[in-house]
Amino acid sequence: MERIGVISDIHGNLPALEAVLDRLADEAVDRVVCLGDVVGYGPHPAECLDRVIRWCSSIVRGNHDEAVLDPRCAGAFNGAAREAVNWTRERLGPLHLAAINRMRSSSFIGPDDEVMLVHDNPWPGPIDYVHDKLVAALAFRGVDRPICLLGHTHVPMVFESPDDDPARDLSAVELTAFIPADGLPIRLAPGRRYICNPGSVGQPRDCDPRASFAVLDLRDRTFTVHRAAYDIAAVQSASLAAGLPAILADRLAIGA
Ligand code: ZN
Repeated sequence: MERIGVISDIHGNLPALEAVLDRLADEAVDRVVCLGDVVGYGPHPAECLDRVIRWCSSIVRGNHDEAVLDPRCAGAFNGAAREAVNWTRERLGPLHLAAINRMRSSSFIGPDDEVMLVHDNPWPGPIDYVHDKLVAALAFRGVDRPICLLGHTHVPMVFESPDDDPARDLSAVELTAFIPADGLPIRLAPGRRYICNPGSVGQPRDCDPRASFAVLDLRDRTFTVHRAAYDIAAVQSASLAAGLPAILADRLAIGA
């Protein structure tokens, strides 16, 4: 049975990604999967794509990856995000763009394909950020497996549904939400469904500036979020030297 490293929202931050890949080697995972947004915001898009393509057995496409391929997808982005995506597009060659083009919007892994991978929300609707129990209750309509892994919010979180029936409409009060603590396993009980978010490698937004990632253990049935310190000043310098908006470097120091 498998121990799966789960990374998401790397956003062109190479020092953070390398710190996480080092830690995943220590965790003796059998494979690593990526939930998208490899690029956008950060100064190392090509290097991050190279590492992710080399190390990850499954990669789903995020909205920033998509916006690199198609500028129309950046229409809803704020000014700094749009500027960074335009900057990123100019720095990627045809091989990198082809690699993004090959990423699918969802993927399934594990025995009986019991783990679903998406970037943002398995149930398309007006809100794509699964950030609270109200949105999660709707998102569970799209989860017909025991476990759904997603990113996009940049905040580590686990939502638990009381049953395994995607046809039944859930209300928010029926769900349990867990805020994962660094290194503390969350048990995934049988007969329930889970939406698990590992947080963001390259731009955490839960006020902890350390890179966030997770290990999903399909034998022990646990999901464990870990944090990895990395050289934030180095990526800030690279970001400013690249001419990217200063706010993108500033926010890394506070994890917001
Ligand atoms: Zn993202």
